[in-house]
Amino acid sequence: MTSIADNIGGVTRRIQKATLAAGRSPGDVRLLAVSKTQGPEAIREALAAGQFAFGENYLQEALDKINALKAETSIQWHFIGPIQSNKTRDIANCFDWVHSVDRLKIARRLDEQRDPALPALEVCIQVNINDEPSKSGCTLTELPDLVRSIATLPRLNLRGLMAIPDPDLSEGDLKQSFRKLARALADLRQQEPAAGPLDTLSMGMSDDLELAIAEGATWVRVGSAIFGARAAKS
Ligand SMILES: *Cc1c(COP(=O)(O)O)cnc(C)c1O
Repeated sequence: MTSIADNIGGVTRRIQKATLAAGRSPGDVRLLAVSKTQGPEAIREALAAGQFAFGENYLQEALDKINALKAETSIQWHFIGPIQSNKTRDIANCFDWVHSVDRLKIARRLDEQRDPALPALEVCIQVNINDEPSKSGCTLTELPDLVRSIATLPRLNLRGLMAIPDPDLSEGDLKQSFRKLARALADLRQQEPAAGPLDTLSMGMSDDLELAIAEGATWVRVGSAIFGARAAKS
């Protein structure tokens, strides 16, 4: 069995190689370690290996870890899971980033509930890039209006877009999906230049990070390639 530190080294080399191959600058692509289902000890191991950004999908599980690790002030916490509107207060205040904002109601609540003493919450809009019926995310058609509305919310800093493509797509279709998200971000930068930095594409996971980096990913969200295969969530 390889260690978490070895795995982070391996993933970091994959990222560097793909970044270089895409003609992009080293440092353009950051690694978000997806620590869902992992305990605080696994996160400590990753921290010791130099990893600082962690992504969580399930709020209660995340809050337990954030509390257990509150002495580790260098950790940056990212929420990447579906958001229920009655859970926004903790998401607004215990995380640095939220990648999974997909409707105005959620954005408004995060904006209202973010502690004014904290910096603005960094957010991405999740796009349902393959129009999957049961998947979170707004459609590309809904996106421009949502961006214009979020742009007016002072406690949110709109960084860009996030997508989780259909895992059953062929490599070619996956590439097209990443490209579509990148193009949507480029269009928004032109059409809504004041909406926020719009500098972020959160896309690519353990199995497809190279493809995502080739299409412009700036955060790759990697779980199993760092922490090993997850037990099925019951
Ligand atoms: C679990 C998860 C990941 C990481 O997936 P791996 O295939 O384990 O790398 C990335 N993004 C989201 C939103 C996830 O839920």
